[in-house]
Amino acid sequence: MQIPFVDLHTQYQQNKEAIDGAIAGVIADTAFIGGKYVRAFEASFAEMYGAKHVIGCGNGTDSLYILMKMLGIGEGDEVITVANSWISTSETISQTGARPVFVDIHPQYYSMDETLLEARITGKSKAVIIVHLQGQACDMNAISDICKRHNLFLIEDCAQSHFSTFKGKNVGLFGIAGSFSFYPGKNLGAYGDAGCIITNDDALAEKCRMYANHGALVKHQHRIEGINSRLDGLQAAILSAKLPHIHEWTKKRIENAGIYDHYLEGINEIILPIRRPDAKHTFHLYVIRAQRRDELAKWLKDQQVETAVHYPTALPNLPAYAYLGYSPEEFPVATALQHEILSLPMYPELTETQIQFIANSIETFYRK
Ligand SMILES: *Cc1c(COP(=O)(O)O)cnc(C)c1O
Repeated sequence: MQIPFVDLHTQYQQNKEAIDGAIAGVIADTAFIGGKYVRAFEASFAEMYGAKHVIGCGNGTDSLYILMKMLGIGEGDEVITVANSWISTSETISQTGARPVFVDIHPQYYSMDETLLEARITGKSKAVIIVHLQGQACDMNAISDICKRHNLFLIEDCAQSHFSTFKGKNVGLFGIAGSFSFYPGKNLGAYGDAGCIITNDDALAEKCRMYANHGALVKHQHRIEGINSRLDGLQAAILSAKLPHIHEWTKKRIENAGIYDHYLEGINEIILPIRRPDAKHTFHLYVIRAQRRDELAKWLKDQQVETAVHYPTALPNLPAYAYLGYSPEEFPVATALQHEILSLPMYPELTETQIQFIANSIETFYRK
């Protein structure tokens, strides 16, 4: 049995008519940049998400950059973020001219350890970017409190956590703004690069929309210099066709996580994902901690089961951040876990038979 890490093909086959129709409509209308398909997706995402403003942009990296630029973050500032994430979270901090400051991760939940955040705050701190990694919300009570007390902007990187909640509230709505990626493999994925910003702040929304479109809200009226980072019509129409299915797909992911738990429990060499009380984990990734991780991954590959590691090197340990002068010992949890974490195949279309095969293969590895 061949099991890919992500399977975008099955979902396309199941929704072929709607998606092909969406693409054909955009081409027939030649509504490639801006236009009604982009506005329609922004409006439906805003409504479903419960956000006042949705600003489509080119991808989930730009959305972070645009937000920080429009919050006035730049040279001389520090932005605090988490030691384990995709590099977008921290590279965009550097791109504004600010300095990324990393916080170690929680040993159970793998996202920012909120108890270590306050110690990283200095007089130069301007914002905190938290990442709801793997689809599980951070402790938003603690983190919101700290940001309020120290007057820091709270930005949520929701690239892996569409419709995840903390205490029943959607992530992305706890601070000044949230950033989303619609990269094809994300829980809500386009057929190319796409992203958006959500915020309830009118002034910030207008600035972000302007900055993402060359600093102009009206053609040729450039109030500032901006960048070119727009959601395109084709991606917007595809996202609109997929959006009505998101809750059903999320439910399937959560069910599949439960099925994995069921077949994997009892294997003492691995630790299963731990759910945070009060959080709805939407399982963008199903991550285990495994003894002899690299050998296990290789064994699974030999059984034609594709796995991945998110991420093999914690951000402060990357050559890109050597200039910050951190040592791996400052991030003991992230540094240890980068050798133990393993992401197993996870998508709504994954079947129980496939999960059972993966679990049996893992069991065989440790028993052989
Ligand atoms: C995917 C991802 C991004 C970047 O999104 P792109 O759309 O690929 O630019 C940012 N942060 C995290 C945590 C991600 O997983």
